[in-house]
Parts: sequence; C-alpha cells; structure tokens
Amino acid sequence: MDASIKNLIQLAAKQLTQAKHAIALTGAGVSTESGIPDFRGPEGVWTKNPEAERRTYEIYPKFVRDPTAYWREMLTEPLTFFTDMEKAQPNPGHFALARLDQVGILKSTITQNIDGLHDKAGSKNLFEYHGSLLKMRCPVCNARYGRDRFNLEHLLKTNELPPLCTKCGNALKSDVVYFGEPIPQDVAEHSYREAQQCDVMLVCGTSAVVYPFASLPIIAAGGTFEDGIPIRYGREAATIIEINGEPTSLTREHVSSYLIAGKTGELLPMLADAVDKMTAARV
Ligand code: NAD
Repeated sequence: MDASIKNLIQLAAKQLTQAKHAIALTGAGVSTESGIPDFRGPEGVWTKNPEAERRTYEIYPKFVRDPTAYWREMLTEPLTFFTDMEKAQPNPGHFALARLDQVGILKSTITQNIDGLHDKAGSKNLFEYHGSLLKMRCPVCNARYGRDRFNLEHLLKTNELPPLCTKCGNALKSDVVYFGEPIPQDVAEHSYREAQQCDVMLVCGTSAVVYPFASLPIIAAGGTFEDGIPIRYGREAATIIEINGEPTSLTREHVSSYLIAGKTGELLPMLADAVDKMTAARV
C-alpha cells in the first residue's frame, strides 16, 4: 500500500475521531464489490440493456396512472437488475461503515443506493435517499413497510392489488425513487440538515453527478445555490473526505478536502481499524 494512502487514512481517522458530527454519503461504487454494476460504466446496466433504462422511465408515470397495473407488471415481468440486486450481500466496505455507525462515530449514513446493503450490514442511522428495494412506501404519508409485510403473490392471484397503506389507505409503491418521482420529503429534509450540520463528511463511491444528492457535499463545503448553480462557498466548511476509485467533479472543483483513491472495500476497513485504534488509545 502506497505510503501517502496510509497517511491519508491516518489523517481521516483522526478527523473522524475528533469530529462533533461526522456523516457518510455513499453511491453505487460501494456496492460494485458486491457484484452490483453501476448504471453507465462499460459494464453498466443501461449500457448493456438500453431497454431496461427505457422501462425505468415509464415506471413512475405508470404507478401514478394505475397502481394495480404497476404492481401486476412488477410481479409478472420484474426487471432482472432489480431481482439480481436483491440477492447481493454486503462487502467489507459496508461492514466498515456499519462499524463506524455502531460506535457512534458516524451520526448518519446517507446513501443513493437502492440495494439495501447498508441495512443488511447493520448501519442503524441510515437514510436511503433513493429508497430501498427491500421496502415499500406510501407516497402520501411516507410510511414504510418491509417487502415481506404483504403477500404480494397472493394479492396478485386474488386480484387484490395494489397493497394499501395500513396508516392512510393509499396505494403503496416500492420505496425505490423512480425517474420523475420526488425525493421523499422526510429523507430530503434530514439529509439537507445533516449536510448543513456536519463538520466531517465521508463521501464514498459516488461520481456526484446525480442531483439533488450531489448538492449535499457542496452544502457541507459551505456552498449556496442560485437557480440550481453553486455560487459561493461561504460558511465554515466541513472537511470533506472522498474515497473513490477515481477523481470526480468534487475533487476537480475542490469541494472535497482530499481524495483517498482506491477501492472502498479495502480502504473503508482500514479506516475503521485506524479509528478503532485511536479511540482505544484515548481511553
Ligand atoms: P456512479 O456509477 O455515477 O459513480 C460511482 C463512482 O464510484 C465512480 O466514480 C466509480 O469510479 C466509483 N467506484 C466504482 N467502484 C468503486 C470501488 N469499488 N471503490 C471506490 N470507488 C468505486 O454512481 P452514483 O454516483 O451512485 O450515481 C448512480 C445513481 O444510480 C445513484 O443515484 C443510484 O441511486 C443509482 N444506482 C444505484 C445502485 C445500487 O443501489 N447499488 C447501482 C447503480 C446505480
């Protein structure tokens, strides 16, 4: 391992242990080592199957028009990348973030991923910005339910679709936020507040191009927006530590304080170990 990477891991561990309010943001890169491809890379889901991309644009309008038809299609013609994702298991990067959450170093983990792997790894203070494949959500009151709460196959056979929210009676959809669908207000507001409040932000495995999620590091860096464009880095900025396989727009535009370049499945366990050692030495 490169000496400069080891030094950066030590620096990041020190900043995390000294932070008053550290949070993590994650993207598709933390799950590639669990065998889940990203969307637009050379092996990406959309690159290999443009038909799947076209279908995903149609899902949300279909739910709004006819929730029964939406559920019937979800159950009888599921998109294979969703079903493949459901079988994936967390990798050492997810477990390392879960350790940092459980010892109280990370106050929130906010992910763009819909694969549910942070949940499976044991992160507790978890906010799934684009929802989770493992849950269903009421689009009216935002109540969430585990997928196994309803016997969907039975509802299909008995013509009782769609499943209904037990709190407000509205038709449920998958918790996944589809193209064209607003980010659920509870998660959007929490994430915005966390980005404003944090003093250290760990940004892992995201190219930071999908908005509004990509505005969170800019907000933490003290940026303000005018007509959707970041115009000023004003408030005392949080330290923004990027862990990614390659530089991103956050690196190039100096939103991040520094980049630790490499695989999250290798670097995050090293970081969690370094944090463990520093906190043990302080006791
Ligand atoms: P992205 O594909 O745009 O960017 C991923 C970044 O991670 C890239 O910069 C890549 O170089 C880096 N990367 C890949 N593997 C890595 C590894 N092992 N270690 C470190 N870095 C690695 O992903 P994004 O920014 O999350 O945006 C994609 C959008 O698509 C998100 O909104 C997300 O909801 C969705 N998506 C989710 C999943 C999932 O749930 N696992 C998968 C694909 C896409």
